[in-house]
Amino acid sequence: SPSGSGVATKTGANSRVFVFEVEGMRQGSDSDKLTYPIRRSGRVYITVPYERMNQEMRRISRMGGRIVNIRPCNGTPSAESTASGNGLQSQQSGEQKKPMTQAKAKTEVPVNIYKPKSPFMGKCLSNEELVKEGGTGTVRHLTFDLSGGDLHYLEGQSIGIIPPGEDANGKPHKLRLYSIASTRHGDNLDDKTVSLCVRQLEYQHPETNETVYGVCSTYLCNLEPGADVAITGPVGKEMLLPDDEDATIIMMATGTGIAPFRAFLWRMFKEREQNPDYQFKGLAWLFFGIPYTANILYKEQLEELEQQFPENFRLTNAISREQQNPDGGKMYIQDRIKEHADQLWQLIQKPNTHTYICGLKGMEGGIDEGMSAAAGKFGVDWMEYQKQLKKEHRWHVETY
Ligand code: FAD
Repeated sequence: SPSGSGVATKTGANSRVFVFEVEGMRQGSDSDKLTYPIRRSGRVYITVPYERMNQEMRRISRMGGRIVNIRPCNGTPSAESTASGNGLQSQQSGEQKKPMTQAKAKTEVPVNIYKPKSPFMGKCLSNEELVKEGGTGTVRHLTFDLSGGDLHYLEGQSIGIIPPGEDANGKPHKLRLYSIASTRHGDNLDDKTVSLCVRQLEYQHPETNETVYGVCSTYLCNLEPGADVAITGPVGKEMLLPDDEDATIIMMATGTGIAPFRAFLWRMFKEREQNPDYQFKGLAWLFFGIPYTANILYKEQLEELEQQFPENFRLTNAISREQQNPDGGKMYIQDRIKEHADQLWQLIQKPNTHTYICGLKGMEGGIDEGMSAAAGKFGVDWMEYQKQLKKEHRWHVETY
């Protein structure tokens, strides 16, 4: 009977319960058998309270199980009827499901406090190189003083910077957007600063072959502490973190795409005391693509978090010029996605998993390739599935 399989047929009004459909579970100890009776179909149904989802997923994974479906347990359909059908039907049918972990209500998100016509004049407090000896290019961590103004922001937002001077047409330079790299409390934890992670744009002119440097990024990378800087914003609602402390947060960054994720991770792990209302207990998994080890931005701090929070934080680097993919080519972020695609596919199906992509334009293609392969194993069309995730505000992309 359904109740014998551990599937609750009724849930209390307040407790959200889900049913995991799992295959490939090893017949483990006797106590495992008691909790998870294995059916003839080879699939087990496990009832999981929302609060325990992450723990349960890790447990299933340890027992060699693969989650093929997760659905809210509202009493119907019964486990028996699901077992006879395709476990993924509910996801494929495209039926509208309420996302479990919406990003904040839009009204709570500050936007355009300072507009280009009257920007906030901040001061540069510090400007530090992030690329180590042997790395390529220049990337700086900049912190600006915001005191005396009303500029405040949330993790995942961006600010505009207006470089001084005029463009080739004699018009004042337009603003450039930069992802905020600090939490809402700022690097000094006094709610009075904002930090950025800026790469100096440098390229060879396609016709003259001259080296060209980007206007605003060069201005910022050379900014002296004490200098004034014109700031607009904040802007952006795409990359906000859900309030859910138990969420799974998958982050995929190339280069300065790390900026919003630094803000996320600092909020989750480093500034717990500053956020009594947000004590992250979920899983945060960062995929980071860079050319050389010396280019791993914030490397020491990320590794420290990995050691301090092994249950809650995973760091997977793709170091393209130093590591090889299984085909002997350069190791790009998409190769790491492919390597972990099965596990990512399992995680992404959980209603409280959010995936964030930030960095170079074009990095999405490889990620979709890897995910297509994993979802394809279960007969799921990844691009359709991804559309659904976007609708549910669980697939967040900011590339430039
Ligand atoms: P510009 O002087 O404006 O030069 C850029 C122009 O140079 C391009 O439009 C193109 O015409 C040309 N160009 C560029 N590369 C080449 C090439 N290889 N060959 C030929 N022509 C080329 N940047 C960061 O460093 N950190 C961030 O956190 C960050 N976050 C961003 C967030 C958002 C939402 C967006 C939209 C962008 C973000 N950027 C970030 C990029 C940033 O806004 C600027 O685009 C970047 O710093 C370059 O500006 P610039 O003024 O230096 O270059």
